[in-house]
Amino acid sequence: MAHFCRLLSRLWEAWKLDNWWKNVRFEAAGLARCLLCLGPVKGRRLCAGCERDLPWGGLQVRLSGRNQIKRFASFSYTFPIRQLIGQAKFSDRVGIATLLGGLMGEHPPQVDLTGFVVCAVPIAYARHLTRGYNQAFLLAEPVARQLGLALLPTNSLRRVHTRPQRQLGRRARYRNLRGAFYASGAVAGQKILLIDDVLTTGATFYCASRALFSAGAIDVVAWACASVD
Ligand SMILES: [Zn+2]
Repeated sequence: MAHFCRLLSRLWEAWKLDNWWKNVRFEAAGLARCLLCLGPVKGRRLCAGCERDLPWGGLQVRLSGRNQIKRFASFSYTFPIRQLIGQAKFSDRVGIATLLGGLMGEHPPQVDLTGFVVCAVPIAYARHLTRGYNQAFLLAEPVARQLGLALLPTNSLRRVHTRPQRQLGRRARYRNLRGAFYASGAVAGQKILLIDDVLTTGATFYCASRALFSAGAIDVVAWACASVD
């Protein structure tokens, strides 16, 4: 099964690379093609059909943790969102993160976001240096732009280096991130719209929002691009 999944993901990577080259050629010829099906598009990266077929998550509200933050996710973490987020994170495909953030901004959760400021869940400084950018910030920028909300300065919420969450179980994820986030005085009295790429157990949102509340934030709404369950 694992082998089959690996094979499938290699095929997907090869297909995407092929598409990417085709897109470069199309763009050079002044034509735009859908990133997923290569159909013609006007001024967008996805065609209407592919956008409609994305695994939209219904933006479910879930209250989480002692501070009862509202959590939302735009998509299910399945094909092709999973692959797009993977590319945005590991292959330096900044354009894909901007596309996903744009889709999030066009379909915001149905909560009153008046007076909120947008804050991206930070990555540790060392990881930022090696990757060159924070994928959550690339999502947060178009979200803020489309909702007409201000973006908090990136150093308002910081994160120390911890073990990667991927291999950890639910409890270990919370333990790993305890005390990992620090918020500056810039968040005092603010209502924060916290943006991240993937919502798994909610440990990251929970620990980040605790840091925000202890620095004086008055409300936190957490919004991920995709949710694992
Ligand atoms: Zn398409």
